[in-house]
Amino acid sequence: MSTTPAFTYQSAPSRIIFGTGSVGSLAAEIEALGCKKVLVLSTPFQKSDAEKLAQDIGPLAAGVYSDAQMHTPVNITASALAAYAAAGADGIVSIGGGSTIGLGKALSWRNKAPHLVVATTYAGSEVTDILGQTEDGVKTTVRDPAIRPETVIYDANLTLGLPVAMSVSSGLNAIAHAVEGLYAQDRNPVTSLMAVEAIRALKDALPRIVKVPQDVAARSDALYGSWLCGVVLGSVGMSLHHKLCHTLGGTFDLPHAETHAILLPHTAAFNAVAAQDALAPAADLFGGDLGGGLYDLATELGAPMALRDLGVTEGDLQKAADLAVKNAYWNPRDITRDGILTLLLDALDGRRPSLEK
Ligand code: NAD
Repeated sequence: MSTTPAFTYQSAPSRIIFGTGSVGSLAAEIEALGCKKVLVLSTPFQKSDAEKLAQDIGPLAAGVYSDAQMHTPVNITASALAAYAAAGADGIVSIGGGSTIGLGKALSWRNKAPHLVVATTYAGSEVTDILGQTEDGVKTTVRDPAIRPETVIYDANLTLGLPVAMSVSSGLNAIAHAVEGLYAQDRNPVTSLMAVEAIRALKDALPRIVKVPQDVAARSDALYGSWLCGVVLGSVGMSLHHKLCHTLGGTFDLPHAETHAILLPHTAAFNAVAAQDALAPAADLFGGDLGGGLYDLATELGAPMALRDLGVTEGDLQKAADLAVKNAYWNPRDITRDGILTLLLDALDGRRPSLEK
């Protein structure tokens, strides 16, 4: 007779405002956090969105800082800190994806200031207590409950402009959090329920977004799935997939979401043999073959499939395989250099994963 295994469940306090048009509650949410003037952050690409948001909240806006960059470089944080102080701000609003949210986390953590996020990608950073920062090309990660933003607004209308290619990569990036969450050593029944529901929602929503990028219902379903994926990422430990993406991304300067999208079918197939029971509810969504099913989904979505297309060479992968076995971490399946190299070579050419059996 099977029994419920022992587990620890720590809920993470975030206030989530979900719904089409919910950005209209931004001013009220800022006031609810006790803030009088917030600095609005974005990347240069979303500067006009940030300016519109600042205009909408009128006197609650202390200004806009629109130089957020990927991987939270500390020199950008320093210049944003100066802008925050000069504007006399007492809170932060980030509008965007993981890059902008990273900067918002860096500022709010250093200033002990409330942080409100209007999330516009599926990366999930808005509900985690993780901050990755880079200095002189070296990325370090801090975890602290104080890093987790207080309030998150998910409004599908603000994701209609996320280009289809980015939506697809970002969505697969989100699914990767859920897949790794399912076999995490510190998983619990709640995160596992969230992970399966998240994969179901994104698997259903992404093909609809590819067909009709302006489909608000599909965008809403994808945001819902990405929120759940983010909660899983912020609640349990990640393994092979995230470590490999981190190694490849950091060593060869690869784009974040695309690297996740390419590797996901391969890491899922690799671990499926060792984590069959934990992955079963997710595999069921794909007819029983998680790695193959994810590969087919990525193909259907027109996702990037081959590391070679990101400029990676076979020689790079020999180096990556060396690095992957160097730093020990928990994974459901033993990590050997040969096993990792086979996985990476499949991903290099975008071949169907071959390690499932
Ligand atoms: P991103 O934030 O870099 O966004 C990519 C580009 O898309 C940017 O130019 C952005 O302005 C633009 N964009 C975002 N939303 C848009 C929209 N709705 N319409 C039009 N353009 C839009 O990409 P990302 O994948 O969300 O984040 C990647 C970064 O986040 C990486 O640095 C990664 O390490 C980090 N991350 C951190 C965590 C965490 O928990 N700390 C989790 C996931 C990702």
